[in-house]
Amino acid sequence: MYEFAVTPAVTQLRRPGVIITDVAPESLAEELELRPNDRIVRVNGRPIRDYLDFRFQTAGETDLTFRVKKVTGETWDIEFERDEGEDFGLMFEQIVPRQCANECLFCFCKGNPEDARPSLFVRDEDIRLSFLYGNYTTLSSITEDEMKRIIEQRLSPQYVSVHATDLKTRAYLLGVDESRADISDKLERLLAADIELHAQVVLCPEINDGKILEKTLRDLAAFYPKVVSTAVVPVALTRYNTDERLTRVTPEFCRRTIREVETLQKEFRKTLGVTFAFLGDEIYLKAGADIPSKRHYGNYPQIEDGVGMVRSFLTAFGGLLSLPPAVAGGLTRRSGSINRRTHFAAMVPNNAKKADLQPPVTAGSSDFGTFLTGEMFAPVLSAQIDKYNAMTGSRHTVLAVPNTYFGGDVSVAGLLSGSDFLAMKGKVAGDFVVIPRITIKSDEPIFIDGMSYDELKMQFPVPLFDLDTDGLVELLKREN
Ligand code: SF4
Repeated sequence: MYEFAVTPAVTQLRRPGVIITDVAPESLAEELELRPNDRIVRVNGRPIRDYLDFRFQTAGETDLTFRVKKVTGETWDIEFERDEGEDFGLMFEQIVPRQCANECLFCFCKGNPEDARPSLFVRDEDIRLSFLYGNYTTLSSITEDEMKRIIEQRLSPQYVSVHATDLKTRAYLLGVDESRADISDKLERLLAADIELHAQVVLCPEINDGKILEKTLRDLAAFYPKVVSTAVVPVALTRYNTDERLTRVTPEFCRRTIREVETLQKEFRKTLGVTFAFLGDEIYLKAGADIPSKRHYGNYPQIEDGVGMVRSFLTAFGGLLSLPPAVAGGLTRRSGSINRRTHFAAMVPNNAKKADLQPPVTAGSSDFGTFLTGEMFAPVLSAQIDKYNAMTGSRHTVLAVPNTYFGGDVSVAGLLSGSDFLAMKGKVAGDFVVIPRITIKSDEPIFIDGMSYDELKMQFPVPLFDLDTDGLVELLKREN
C-alpha cells in the first residue's frame, strides 16, 4: 500500500484545481510561464480536481486552453498548441486521500501505537489511489460521482476489500449497517462497464472463515475474469488491538484454511484455468506448510499484498544459487524492484536517491555480514543463506528481529521499526548489516516509528544497507 504524507492540506479547505509543484527547465510549461504554486483549474473548459483529471483531460489533445489561477492572484487563460505526445514538464501536488466512513473491527489504525507517525492514521478510501497505487477500498461509501469517474476515466483495475459476500458478516466486519455494506449493485455496475477488480479478504478466525470464506470465493470466482484475483490475508493483531471480538490467527487455523482453500483452488484451476484465490504468504509460513509453486501464482497478481513474495524471493535466490561458485561479488547498482501494482501515471516519491548515494560497498570484498529480517521470514532467508554459505564458503548470518514496536503477532519484515533494528546492535556480526528496504518510508528516509535512517546508521559500528530482493541477489552474486 502506498502511504501518503500528512500535510496541512489534509485538514484545510481544498480549492478547485491542481497545484503545480515543479516546472522542468526549458519545458513547454516554462515557455507558457507556468510557475510552482500556480493552480490549473480548467483544461479546455473542463474542471480539474487533481493530476489524474489533468492527465485525462490533456491526453491526446494538441490544441489546449488552460485556465490558471496564478500565485499572484491573477487568472490567466492560456491557449496554445503542442506536438503530439509532447510532455508539459509539469509536476503536481499529490492527491489528498479521501477518508473512509467505516469502523472496521480490525482497522490498522486501531493497532498503531499512539505515537506512530501521523500518516499511519490516515484511513484512505479513495478510488483514485486504488487505481494509481493499488490501495484497497471497500466501496461502501463511494459516491455517484466517483462511480461515474471510474467508468468515464477507465480507472481500472480497482482493488476492493470485500472480506465477505455474506452481507451480515461484511456489515459486522466493516462496522456499518447492511445497506451501506451491500456493494453488489456497485460491483455489477463496474463489471458491466468492463472495469477489472482485484478483491481482498482479511481473514478473521470465527468471523469470515470456513463456509463464509468458501461462499465469498465462489461468489467472486463467478465473475472471473473481470474479477481477476482474490487475496486472502490473515488479520494481524498488534498488542494494541484489544477488541474481544477478534481472535488471533494460530498455526492450526492456518493449516485448516490451507486445506479448505486448496480444494477450491484445484476446482478454480480446472474451471477457470487459474488459481484465482490466493492465500497470503503468512498463512503458509505460520502453518509450517510448503510455499506453493511459481505456477500457482501465475503472474503474481497480488504480490504487493504479501501473496507470492516468498515464492518470488525463492525463485530469485534459486537463480543465484545455480550460478557457478566464484568469489563473492560486490554490491552493484541495484536493478530496482518492479512495483507491479502502481500505475505508470502515478507520481511515486521514492527514497532511491538516498540509496544511490550509498558509498560503493566494502561488502563486495567481505564474505561476512548480517541480514536482519522479520521473525516470519527469517527461517526462509536463513535456509537460503546457509545454502549460499555452503556453496561459497561465506559466513553470512541471518537474525530474526522481534517486533517490539507493534508486538502481538506482528512478525512480518515490513513492519519492523528503527528501534527494533537498533535493539539488535549487540548481536550483529561481520563487516556489514543489511535491513529490508521495505521498512523505510517510500518518500522519506525514516522508519515506522519515526527514527531516521541516518540515525540508525550512525548507531551501527559497520555499514548498514537497505536492500530489496533484487539488491540482495546483486550483493551476493559472484563475479565470474
Ligand atoms: S476501510 Fe476499514 S480498515 Fe480501511 S481505513 Fe477504513 S476502517 Fe480502517
